[in-house]
Amino acid sequence: MFADEALERAQALDKKLSAPATWGKLFGVVIGIKDVLCYDNHHVGAASKILKNYTAIYNATAVQHLLDEDAIIIGNLNCDEFAMGSSNENSSHGNVLNALDETRVPGGSSGGSAVAVQASLCMASLGSDTGGSVRQPADFCGIVGLKPSYGRISRYGLLAYASSFDQIGIFSTNIEDAAILLSVIAGADEYDSTCSSSPVPDYAAEIKKSSPFKIAYFPQCLEHPSLDKEIKEKIVQWIDDLKSAGHSIEPVNFEFLDYIVPAYYILTTAEASSNLSRYDGVKFGFRSQEKIQDLNRLYKKTRSEGFGKEVKRRIMLGTFVLSTGYYDAYYTKAQQVRKLIFEKTKEVFDQYDLIILPTTPSPAFKFGEKSNDAVEMFLGDLYTVYANLAGVAGISLPLFHHSNGMPFGVQVLANKLEESKLLAFSNSVMNPPQHA
Ligand code: GLN
Repeated sequence: MFADEALERAQALDKKLSAPATWGKLFGVVIGIKDVLCYDNHHVGAASKILKNYTAIYNATAVQHLLDEDAIIIGNLNCDEFAMGSSNENSSHGNVLNALDETRVPGGSSGGSAVAVQASLCMASLGSDTGGSVRQPADFCGIVGLKPSYGRISRYGLLAYASSFDQIGIFSTNIEDAAILLSVIAGADEYDSTCSSSPVPDYAAEIKKSSPFKIAYFPQCLEHPSLDKEIKEKIVQWIDDLKSAGHSIEPVNFEFLDYIVPAYYILTTAEASSNLSRYDGVKFGFRSQEKIQDLNRLYKKTRSEGFGKEVKRRIMLGTFVLSTGYYDAYYTKAQQVRKLIFEKTKEVFDQYDLIILPTTPSPAFKFGEKSNDAVEMFLGDLYTVYANLAGVAGISLPLFHHSNGMPFGVQVLANKLEESKLLAFSNSVMNPPQHA
């Protein structure tokens, strides 16, 4: 369906070829979208059996913007089920393979979106990032992954995982493409009340404004025992290079590192248990085929058969942390941690433009290496969940190579709605000015 449609759309766009004044900003740009974004009259399934045969009945706002600007949507891209995972091993469609080494994971949850760009199957793609699902696969695949601030892009038509964390993100091979796409899909939306009404800059113009930046880094992140030695060395060296290039860069104490992964997994599973309660076999997609008379049994059977292992784990964990007797010990406590993180982040950004930290503790790992140990998998999100807890913007820049042959990136964060700064800095390090 996508193949025929893409060709038809390309032919329709060809008719406008001789009239550039009529071209949209993404005229003919081939884009893939993660299987959590609604595209009217196309299947959307969050890589889950529970949405088997479900067809979207409207366009996500971001998808509508792509179409309005003459993009060609080439396909719907595999991911971890309901965007829960870090390796794309949790999909009902099977694994996505890293195109640079097929024995290794592409990262997750937006693994398909990352590999589609890595393998040049499309020029750019959309993913979603609740705790790193754009930045981490970008790191593992050697491409750019941008997670804008919470509220920069409407979440209307994005299948929800954890609503106070979710944000649509962009994969590309360079900063300019990410900037152009962000200008197209960002902005106020009457269908998402959490979406910011702050005007959308022309980010592609903003990236040209490079100046020295005031940058912070957290020594606790670089000293963490889980961080691969080579990643640490390269980032420390890079920080020195940035100083030599005229940026001011200083260590800032970050005392919350040990709390952010637990807080993230308590709050997101709580939100997920509520968001995913709508999949009951009545309203959407899949229903158990067993002959059932009793409604509760229908819900139970459908959800037991329809959801995969990781999604069930998170629904149960989320239900537990919200239950009477445990609510204060877990959910309230995690909200308090989030509040402290907000305050700390405000303090840091009152003094600095940007924060630098690793994107991931290790480069792309092998299939099966972590899939039997949920906690180890969760701990791999150490550096990415912070931006979602704080609601700030983050990007992973593909600057380095590991001696094992795999690429890896570095993560840069900017304050809420400061994407211009983030992209300008990113552009200056990805395309350093050429001196005679
Ligand atoms: N790896 C994280 C998780 O499993 C992030 C997921 C995401 O950003 N969607 O929750």
